[in-house]
Amino acid sequence: MLRIGLGHDTHRLIDGDALRLGGVSIPHTKRCLGHSDADVLLHAITDALLGAASLGDIGELFPDTDPANRGRDSAEFLRLAKQRITGWKIVNLDCIVFAEQPKILPYKEAIRRRIAEILDIDVAQVGLKAKTGESVGPIGRQEAIAAECVVLLEKNI
Ligand code: MG
Repeated sequence: MLRIGLGHDTHRLIDGDALRLGGVSIPHTKRCLGHSDADVLLHAITDALLGAASLGDIGELFPDTDPANRGRDSAEFLRLAKQRITGWKIVNLDCIVFAEQPKILPYKEAIRRRIAEILDIDVAQVGLKAKTGESVGPIGRQEAIAAECVVLLEKNI
């Protein structure tokens, strides 16, 4: 038996010195605004996992009104979400980051490795692609960054 999950997230970009993406800090002139560490990619993956298991979403589990979640490492959200999904194993996940800048390619393998490490899966199970906003819209104007993820779960026998 299989279950599919879909996750999406958007964060506003503000002036900063590093972008947190997929559990990796990338030197950049902007950072994402958010209550936690604002890791848009880990948030999308967390929602995809929770969605596949019909366990709600990241906002329900880790509300931004809870002071405990302020500045929190989003890897903890993802790890805790995975712990809740008992009886299922991850077949694979595939992600897209939508960012005009910075170029993701130099960090792609580090991000894939970090995601695999957080989820305790093989790096070959983690797909990652990056797209620009073609200089139009909030992504293209570098006002926002977004991420999407689909995940496939298989019932543990
Ligand atoms: Mg978010």
